Amino acid sequence: MAALIDLRSDTVTQPTAGMRDAMAAAPLGDDVFGDDPSVNALQEALAERLGFEAALFFASGTQSNLCALMSHCQRGDEYIVGQFAHTYRWEGGGAAVLGSIQPQPLNHQPDGSLSLADIEANIKPDDFHFARTRLLTLENTIRGQVLPLDYLAQASALALKHGLKRHLDGARLFNAAVVGAGVGGDPYAAARAITQHFDSVSVCFSKGLGAPVGSVLCGSAALIQQARRWRKMVGGGMRQAGLLAAAAHYALDHQVARLAEDHALAQRLASGLQGIEALAVEAPQSNIVFVGVKPEAVERAAGLLPHLKSRGVLATGIYQLRFVTHLDVDAAGIDRAVAAVREYFA
Ligand SMILES: *Cc1c(COP(=O)(O)O)cnc(C)c1O
Repeated sequence: MAALIDLRSDTVTQPTAGMRDAMAAAPLGDDVFGDDPSVNALQEALAERLGFEAALFFASGTQSNLCALMSHCQRGDEYIVGQFAHTYRWEGGGAAVLGSIQPQPLNHQPDGSLSLADIEANIKPDDFHFARTRLLTLENTIRGQVLPLDYLAQASALALKHGLKRHLDGARLFNAAVVGAGVGGDPYAAARAITQHFDSVSVCFSKGLGAPVGSVLCGSAALIQQARRWRKMVGGGMRQAGLLAAAAHYALDHQVARLAEDHALAQRLASGLQGIEALAVEAPQSNIVFVGVKPEAVERAAGLLPHLKSRGVLATGIYQLRFVTHLDVDAAGIDRAVAAVREYFA
């Protein structure tokens, strides 16, 4: 049987041969003592490349975002966040449950941004009736969409004007950076063009970058010191974590620019699905393709995912299908996925 084409998420990737070699060769130590040279090297490399003083390695993006929010906000503080942002909707309510931090969710604009007017209207005056608005949290990419740089500059200026800190959930920061850099551009410089507008940034290595585990939070030395305390408290102090950090470091050095290939495959998939009567295909900006099922075709589409599975193609979604490209799929796999969808609707 042909290999599975797994388009459920970019988290499904296997470590590459080069990455496994880097892991096997990594010098290790006890990272709770700060002794793991591979963890330290990763933290220093990312902080430097993104223009921050310090960085901290985490077991997951959820843990990294949580510790960032808890470092910026105290009990009774509030963060402004998108309705569909990971830090609001997809992290189990951790900021509220564990941090006693109140979210102020806002609706998204069609491009994924939060309108500046909405942000400003939801910053509470200094009055004891209200939670203290302390933080603006954005996400980039969001739903695979890249937030414009001028928007980031404006949102950042607005936050600063009101004394808010600015956190970026950059789980897919490098997807946004590679789009911003364009062909032949420097993705690390493009990443800094984004991160310069934030006090802290969380980057996932277990998504498109292809590492098995891990996220890194960047910020000021003081913020990272605070985050280290929270990380220990939530059980995220790991020992010979350099085994994992070496994989992430390998990804940072070797698997950033190649994200452009994932984006090209997403385009290929979207074009292949164009013209299927039942479907409304959104033009992808990075590595995620959303495909709506037209209302009149919802019943007919009910068996699509099982059909795809029977053809060795995995995707997610019900009314809106989601296909995510990554380093373990190639053009032939995308063409097989397209053929399987076409076969179903034929
Ligand atoms: C995946 C993801 C995270 C972190 O998820 P973990 O599974 O906890 O690593 C955070 N934000 C966004 C936008 C994500 O896609």
